[in-house]
Amino acid sequence: MTGGTAPRRCVVVGGGLVGLSVAWFLQEHGVSVTVVDRSAVAAGASWGNAGWLSPGLATPLPEPAVLRYGLRALLDPGAALAVPARLDPSLWRFLLTFARHCTAAQWHRAMLALAEINAAALAAYDELGRSGVAAPATPAPITAGFTSAQEARSLLAELAAIRASGQDLSFTVRDGDPGAPFSDRITCTVEIADQRYIDPGGYTAALAESVAARGGTIRAGFTVTRLRSEAGSISVEPASGDPVPTDAVVLATGAWLDTLARPFGVRRRVRAGRGYSFDVATSSPVTRPVYLPAQRVACTPYQGRLRVAGTMEFRGPDEAPVAGRFAAIRESSRDLLSGVDWDSAAHHWVGPRPVTADGLPLIGATSDPRVFVAGGHGMWGITLGPATGMLLAERIATGKDPAAILPFNPLR
Ligand SMILES: Cc1cc2nc3c(=O)[nH]c(=O)nc-3n(C[C@H](O)[C@H](O)[C@H](O)COP(=O)(O)OP(=O)(O)OC[C@H]3O[C@@H](n4cnc5c(N)ncnc54)[C@H](O)[C@@H]3O)c2cc1C
Repeated sequence: MTGGTAPRRCVVVGGGLVGLSVAWFLQEHGVSVTVVDRSAVAAGASWGNAGWLSPGLATPLPEPAVLRYGLRALLDPGAALAVPARLDPSLWRFLLTFARHCTAAQWHRAMLALAEINAAALAAYDELGRSGVAAPATPAPITAGFTSAQEARSLLAELAAIRASGQDLSFTVRDGDPGAPFSDRITCTVEIADQRYIDPGGYTAALAESVAARGGTIRAGFTVTRLRSEAGSISVEPASGDPVPTDAVVLATGAWLDTLARPFGVRRRVRAGRGYSFDVATSSPVTRPVYLPAQRVACTPYQGRLRVAGTMEFRGPDEAPVAGRFAAIRESSRDLLSGVDWDSAAHHWVGPRPVTADGLPLIGATSDPRVFVAGGHGMWGITLGPATGMLLAERIATGKDPAAILPFNPLR
């Protein structure tokens, strides 16, 4: 493979948007793919997220303002950022490393690393759309609402920093009545142009259908317990049943990445930054994503309703949802949105963002030339999934790293 010969077969572990994107683009290189998931397609973070395709906002999570907010949030049980008070040395080690990356200089460096893959994000979606993925990616601005011009200053500073890093970003600040779905408490908005949104669960399912229609195999209920890599052969071992022999493996297991990736030299930890969502009826249709940055709540049109998403909670990816979190999101947004029937809330969901401590994804080869990683996108795996698939598939098929993924080396 390092010699530039594409593998004949590849098993992708993880049927989220990232794994399926890698599988789809591998098919473009003539590779025969099998996607396996311990549960089903879109069973992890790829279902109930906000569905924004917003490369203009895809920034590294560790930044000075997040650290300041995080320290305040430790004392506030209703805060949008939640760390359980428990003895978990590996979590605290992770958070300390995260905190060390919350400097302006580190943020700027990580932003430069993301700029190239961000620039490829929408083009990769265009390619999927042109080639038969039958789900819409709707163009729309994202409108952020604030209760005062003062409150908007932190987002405006961030947008200026994103622009300064060379990213294409166009936005308009407006004072006065913003219109529905904002309430009259919102007096200032910032509209970020040229973004898109999807129904992420529906889109991931459509992508899986396309992979299958192009000859790929999708296997649900297949939990991989380990990869057996021996001279000349590699196979994927399930919890029960026969191992699947293959020529290459891509680990795209989201917040569950560590266990399978660690034996292949991947030392960077991925922790679950869990988010919550539900959807509500609105008195008139909402046609654009809406953002409440001070409350850290993202809303998106969803099947004629409005999906409301928020919270970053550092608990295990398989822990039960904390019931109070849904109420905390509702109460933080209730007065700021109008025409929302909060009693109609449905599809309550929790899902694990795969977060790395340096704010960069893990995309590329591991210490075994037949094992690759695609994950750790944190807040932006929906925006960056297809671009990740396109770039990693090129790496696997040609043996050469595209420049855009060099900063995301899983062995860093
Ligand atoms: C509330 C919320 C809002 C968000 N909003 C946005 C947004 O607007 N835009 C954006 O770009 N991103 C957003 N994100 C982030 C985005 O959802 C994630 O980055 C993305 O979904 C990660 O995709 P993935 O394919 O890497 O992981 P996942 O979708 O979690 O997929 C991993 C899959 O691996 C499977 N798996 C795990 N272990 C094994 C195993 N051993 N064997 C077999 N299968 C296994 C799991 O079942 C799962 O299906 C949001 C996240 C949350 C929680």
